[in-house]
Amino acid sequence: MTITRVDVIITCPGRNFVTVKITTKDGLVGYGDATLNGRELAVASYLRDHLAPLLRERDESRIEDIWQYLYRGSYWRRGPVTMAAIAAVDMALWDIKAKRAQMPLYELLGGASRKGVRAYVHASGWDYEALKVAVEGYRTQGFTAVRVQTGVPGLGQIYGIAPAKAGEKYNYEPAKPAVNSLGEPCPVEEEWDSRAYLNFVPEIFDNLRRDFGSSLALLHDAHHRLTPIEAARLGKELEPYDLFWLEDATPGEDQEAFRLIRSHTTTPLATGEVFNTVFDYRTLISERLIDYVRSSVTHAGGITGIKKILSFAEIYGVKSGIHGPTDVSPVGMAAALHLDMTIHNFGIQEFMPHSEETLSVFRTSYTVADGYLHPGDTPGLGVDLDEELAAASPYTPAYLPTNRLEDGTVHDW
Ligand SMILES: [Mg+2]
Repeated sequence: MTITRVDVIITCPGRNFVTVKITTKDGLVGYGDATLNGRELAVASYLRDHLAPLLRERDESRIEDIWQYLYRGSYWRRGPVTMAAIAAVDMALWDIKAKRAQMPLYELLGGASRKGVRAYVHASGWDYEALKVAVEGYRTQGFTAVRVQTGVPGLGQIYGIAPAKAGEKYNYEPAKPAVNSLGEPCPVEEEWDSRAYLNFVPEIFDNLRRDFGSSLALLHDAHHRLTPIEAARLGKELEPYDLFWLEDATPGEDQEAFRLIRSHTTTPLATGEVFNTVFDYRTLISERLIDYVRSSVTHAGGITGIKKILSFAEIYGVKSGIHGPTDVSPVGMAAALHLDMTIHNFGIQEFMPHSEETLSVFRTSYTVADGYLHPGDTPGLGVDLDEELAAASPYTPAYLPTNRLEDGTVHDW
C-alpha cells in the first residue's frame, strides 16, 4: 500500500502535543508523537513542510528504508527537531504495520518478555514531610519505585517539585505559559545553588530509608546541574541509601565526564533524556560508564531509532529506563510500553500519568495496576485521537524554565 495523507495535529488539552497522522490508500491510520517541549512548532513545520511531501505515495510498509531515507537523506542529521519528526513518522508506520497484522505492536516486535512493565512514579514535596506523604500515597497504589525530589532550604521554585500541597494529586508540569514585559511568551526563571542542594539531599534519603525501609526503589534526578566532581561527591554520599539510579548528574553533552563520576561511586547512573541517537551514547555505553539509557521514543527517532540504542546497550549490560514525562504524549508513552514488553534489557519505565483532559483527547488502551503498566492488546499502538476535541484546544505557547545562580549567571536547567 502507499501513504496518501500526512496530517499534523497540534493540540493543547492541558499541555501542548504535536501528533502526526498518516493515512494509507486503503484507509489505515497510524499516529506518531512529535512533541518537543517548548519547541513544538519547529517540529510541526519540519513534518508539514519538509517530510509530508516526501512521504506521500511512498510504500508505508518499508519502515527501516523510510527511516534511513529521512535520516541520511536530509544531509542534516541528528538533533532534537529532526529526530522528533522522524520519530513521529516511524511510530505512525509501526502503528499501521501492527494494525494491518491485527496485532498489538509488542507482538510484532517479538512478543512479551515479561508480564508487565515496572514503572517508577514522581514523588515530591517542598519539605520532607510533604515528600513522605507523596511517597506513602504511591506505595498505597502499589508502586514499588519512586523518584524523589524536594525543595532545598533557601531556594524558591526548583525542578521537579509539584506546586500541589501535601496529599493533593500530583500536578507537576514544568512548561509554563509565562509572558515578558511586551506580553510575549518567555520562560520563567528559577534559581539554583549546587552547594545548598548537595548539603541537603543526603538527609532526605536518610529520612526515606528510616521511614520506608530497604525494599522501596528510590530514584533521584540531578537534572544536569552538577560538575563532574560534585556529581562524584553526591553519588558517593548517597551510596548508603542504595539508589536505583542517580539521573543526569552532569550536562548531557560531556560523555567523558562520566569517567570521573564512575571512578568515584558505585551509585548506579542513568542519563540520556536529551539524547537523540545511538552516537550520543557511544562512549557512555562502550566504556560501561552508565547503567541505564533514558532516551524517549519520541526524541530518539521512534521505535526504529531507540531499538538501535537499546540493542547497542544490551551487549554491554546497560538497561533501559525510557523517558516518560507528560510532555511525551500518550502515543509516545504507548510506543515505549510496547518496546518495554519485548526487549530483554528492560530496566524500568518512567510514568507521569497524563491529565484527564489529555486522556479525553488521546484514548489509550494501556493499563496501570500494582506498579505495573501494560500496553493492552488493541491492534497497533492502542491510541486513538479525538480530532474534534483536539481542535477545540489550540496550541498555547509555553516554555520550560531557565535557571540562574544568585549572581545572575545562567545555569543548566
Ligand atoms: Mg530527568
